[in-house]
Amino acid sequence: GDTIPEHLLAGMNPPQREAVEHRGPALLIVAGAGSGKTRVLTHRIAGLLATREAWPSQILAITFTNKAAGEMRERVEHLVGEESRGMWISTFHSACVRILRREAEAFGFKQTFTIYDSGDVRALIKRLIKERGADIQGLTPGGVSARISKAKNELHDVDSWARTANLENPLDAAFLELWRDYESQKQRANAFDFDDLISQTVFLLRAFPQVAAQYRKRFRHILVDEYQDTNAAQYALIRELTRPVTRGELPDLRGDLEGASLTVVGDSDQSIYAFRGADIRNITEFERDFPGARVILLEQNYRSTQTILSAANAVIGNNFDRREKRLWTDSGDGDRIVGFTGYSGHDEAQFVADEIVELTSGGMAYSDVAVFYRTNAQTRALEEVLIRSAIPYRVIGGTKFYERAEIKDAMAYLITVANPDDSLSLRRIMNVPRRGIGPATEAALQAFADEQGVSLRDAMRRVGEIALGPKVATAITDLAALLDEWTAKPEADPGEVLRELMSRSGYTDQLRRSPDPQDAARLENVEELVAVAREHRRQNPSANLIDFLTETALVAAADELDDSGGQVSLMTLHTAKGLEFDAVFITGIEEELLPHRIAAMEPGGPAEERRLFYVGITRARKRLHLSLAMTRAQFGEVNPSAPSRFLEEIPAELIDWRTPPTAVRSSPQRALGSRWSDAPREQFVTGYRDPKPLPAGRPKGTFANTVTEVRDNSSMELAPGDRIRHKDFGEGRVEAVSGAGAKRIAEVRFDAAGRKRLLIKIAPIEKL
Ligand code: ATP
Ligand code: MG
Repeated sequence: GDTIPEHLLAGMNPPQREAVEHRGPALLIVAGAGSGKTRVLTHRIAGLLATREAWPSQILAITFTNKAAGEMRERVEHLVGEESRGMWISTFHSACVRILRREAEAFGFKQTFTIYDSGDVRALIKRLIKERGADIQGLTPGGVSARISKAKNELHDVDSWARTANLENPLDAAFLELWRDYESQKQRANAFDFDDLISQTVFLLRAFPQVAAQYRKRFRHILVDEYQDTNAAQYALIRELTRPVTRGELPDLRGDLEGASLTVVGDSDQSIYAFRGADIRNITEFERDFPGARVILLEQNYRSTQTILSAANAVIGNNFDRREKRLWTDSGDGDRIVGFTGYSGHDEAQFVADEIVELTSGGMAYSDVAVFYRTNAQTRALEEVLIRSAIPYRVIGGTKFYERAEIKDAMAYLITVANPDDSLSLRRIMNVPRRGIGPATEAALQAFADEQGVSLRDAMRRVGEIALGPKVATAITDLAALLDEWTAKPEADPGEVLRELMSRSGYTDQLRRSPDPQDAARLENVEELVAVAREHRRQNPSANLIDFLTETALVAAADELDDSGGQVSLMTLHTAKGLEFDAVFITGIEEELLPHRIAAMEPGGPAEERRLFYVGITRARKRLHLSLAMTRAQFGEVNPSAPSRFLEEIPAELIDWRTPPTAVRSSPQRALGSRWSDAPREQFVTGYRDPKPLPAGRPKGTFANTVTEVRDNSSMELAPGDRIRHKDFGEGRVEAVSGAGAKRIAEVRFDAAGRKRLLIKIAPIEKL
């Protein structure tokens, strides 16, 4: 091929350059955070295309989220232009769904399969446990699904697992039975769960060597980002796809073909998914697994200031068993890290809000700011204060749109249309909206289906053969007819299908007529889903219903990130992986939260928690804030907390404490996990002093005096249609009210400021 165009190499340091230029069977790039791993991978792909060493269709790039995939595609297109179309840049899951759909026929199942999310899986297991009754005490839906998932990530199927298990143990034996049932139900429903997507692809590729050989021949270059977080099943997939192709396997081949060239990039210090089966050894043993591999180290960091890097280096240096690497930067020391200790989680949240106000009034955009936490429960206090401070924010991966009941209903309608065998979805909508098909009728239908060996949907079609009342029978016939009408049109516009289903089933009417204001919001959500489906069709004119369902099933938490919005991003430390922001807040740096209580007790747990903290620190470009609270409300109790051991690992001179961390170090017993409440409360609170004077001109009550001056509108009665005035946003009209008590939320369309969600209890509003 030609030489790599200079614009793809400009500004790269020598090892980065080498990583882009190197050619060979296997390349491992190991490097710390922010050293350009993802960038190098992207430029490597662009280089392969620009020199015509590879067709787009010969490239398979794996990223950790769909969002990261989209960004990488955009970058490559930007670098080499339109001709990059046809590349597979996707997550492991999306790549596997694609293979499964394309090869469904060859693999012997229906192309219209649907994908169960974790909620579906638990619902199915719950039903199976209930059906089997008392003989399997000790098994919970959550426990069973976690166990199945773990087994699949280790590439077990029911039979191989059974061979390794001790079936004398009644619990294991019961688990095995349940798992078998689960698999057969799922198969009857023509569905896969998330873990199947990868493990089944591996099994099928192994079972159908000719199909596998086609893919091995096709993908000449495979590139994997965040390789430290691959588990055994994902590793096996890579191995399958990178084996050589022989003429024996593909007779039309001119000669044997070498395996694909494999490039992986990763950082063992950022491995944070061991609890899901990720195996660091995939990195450490890469050279053994892929002989002839070239290893390149990157040590210059281009993301963060030296202060932030020094803190990150100091923290991660406390983990044993790691290869020492020292990140450095030439971008200068930058500002000191800001530390803050609040009385309470609320106080801490107020600090975050005040700092964000200060940063943004200094010119930083809201979208350049992120707030991280270890557990989702911590968002409540943060959200309250952000709403009150009128700071626009977005919770990434929090209350997920696709997990709302009305969205799951709407999706269930679509799934039933696309995949008539999916009885789980059919059951969900059988009597939603109410049409008089009660549990007894459903049981009768199921009994008929089992007896005849047909699907539940078939049983509905043959309702005349079942002894049921005429009214119920009509309801069933009508529903079956509605579903069949659309099943017969698989290529129809998904948005259109959804709108028709929702209106003709009576679903939207039921919401529209309801006096419950929450139903107005639900209706809006359903309409939003119609809009999502329409938009999908607009962007992919040939996409049918199954394509739309696949895409929505794969939307990962981090994918909701939308940086165009001018909003502060709130997310867990896990979700933050791979991202970067000018200013980062890490909150709740306390024993029992970070390291997390549960993880701290497991072998390897504290080290993994430390890596998580390291990931958080290294997301920051310019400003880092570390905060904690002396007391933390959890599970309805307020308990004293102790500073995280990780804080002491950061050299003191790097942190500018806005309040001295006066809390006494936790005693060894407490660090080992005994109850928080053992600690005498006073010792955490004494010595606290109010950190800084209120900035002039800032309204009172936004900082130190939060506790005494909280506004309380709890008793304000608001209903859709009411007009209100907000201190900052001016006048507006209430569109919906949801929630109860202190958590009541109003959705208001302001005349000038647009639509906002307000926590009624504390919002600075008056009724007009
Ligand atoms: P992480 O481990 O967090 O995933 P990474 O190693 O993948 O980090 P990148 O995200 O690729 O790092 O790069 C970090 C930042 O540094 C990005 O903003 C990237 O554009 C920038 N960067 C990387 N290399 C260079 C370079 N040679 N010149 C200028 N900027 C660079
Ligand atoms: Mg990266």
